[in-house]
Amino acid sequence: MIKVRNLKKSFGDTLVLKDVNAEISKGEVISIIGPSGTGKSTFLRCLNLLEVPDSGEIQFQSKDLLADSTDISLVRQKMGMVFQAFNLFEHLTVIHNLTIAPIKLLGMSKSKAHKKAIETLKKVGLTEKADSYPDELSGGQKQRVAIARCLMMNPEVILFDEPTSALDPTMVGEVLSVIKNLAKTGMTMVIVTHEMDFARDVSDRVFYMDQGIIFENGSPEQIFESPLTIEADVFINRIKNFHYSIKSRNYDLYALNAEIVTFAERQFLNKLLIERIELVTEEIIQMYLDNSATVDAELEIAYSGKKKQLQIILNYKGSKHDVFEMSDNAISRKLLESYTDKIEYEYLGDNRIVLFVKLDHIDH
Ligand code: ADP
Ligand code: MG
Repeated sequence: MIKVRNLKKSFGDTLVLKDVNAEISKGEVISIIGPSGTGKSTFLRCLNLLEVPDSGEIQFQSKDLLADSTDISLVRQKMGMVFQAFNLFEHLTVIHNLTIAPIKLLGMSKSKAHKKAIETLKKVGLTEKADSYPDELSGGQKQRVAIARCLMMNPEVILFDEPTSALDPTMVGEVLSVIKNLAKTGMTMVIVTHEMDFARDVSDRVFYMDQGIIFENGSPEQIFESPLTIEADVFINRIKNFHYSIKSRNYDLYALNAEIVTFAERQFLNKLLIERIELVTEEIIQMYLDNSATVDAELEIAYSGKKKQLQIILNYKGSKHDVFEMSDNAISRKLLESYTDKIEYEYLGDNRIVLFVKLDHIDH
């Protein structure tokens, strides 16, 4: 349905898309993942002609999109786009947000547009909000309205550019569910996302984009479990794992906990387990601060749903010293032991303590 060949795009002196090649078939769900600033948004924007590529080819339904004769508004109607920021008309009710484009651009009658809008709102679970204004809705609801608005134009493809990254973590799930349901209806979709579990779950294929190129494309299993390129491997591990530097005794415990919660929610970990992670983290850091002359440590949390394993790792500088063994705080030691299956220490130039957090009795 979409074929892209040697696509290039620069902004001034910056070559953003170096050489993008891709093929997308009808009914496929493609997730695009990769570091920020590597051209993912630019690629989507080129696809529906919000940006004009410098060179290369884009074919959509066997037509050359970059030809002078292309009807840009028709392309945008067939290739809907959902953005990070919902871009709703704040002065219009939800239903008017939905009907305005079909009436103006497709010449749909008011009554037909109204009927279709009600049906479409049903698909995103928001019929009862038809007469609300956008500012009466939560972020998740606004994004669902934006998806409904896009569906009103009967698109053949929907491009999503990080549809959940402006949302409060509690609202991510409702938007992802709507997208998942669309996938079940056979809608062709290209989704730029940081939600790795979602990408894995919903996609037929995953594109790993880096440095203005699609480095790898493959099944979710292949990309997430055995990426071929070092770049994809590094990126996927960084996203799966949480990192935090501790450079001072006055490290910000609240900020750390907030970041842990965000990370853990992204992995769909439950409340009990998140509390356990926070407790174990705080205790091991305290032991470290109590038993190290200097402060220079990296905290890492590595979760693998597949292996059913959660490791909290503290790497710290200095000569060999096992801060867990050194700790004379019996209560903290007991607590850490009760929350973990095992605690390993090794010294390989730097000190490293790995705590294997217990996952049993926690439904995650
Ligand atoms: P991603 O979506 O992967 O984070 P983008 O496609 O948004 O990446 O951006 C890639 C690069 O292009 C960035 O360095 C960004 O600053 C630059 N860029 C994007 N849009 C523009 C623009 N309209 N003008 C100038 N530079 C831009
Ligand atoms: Mg982007």
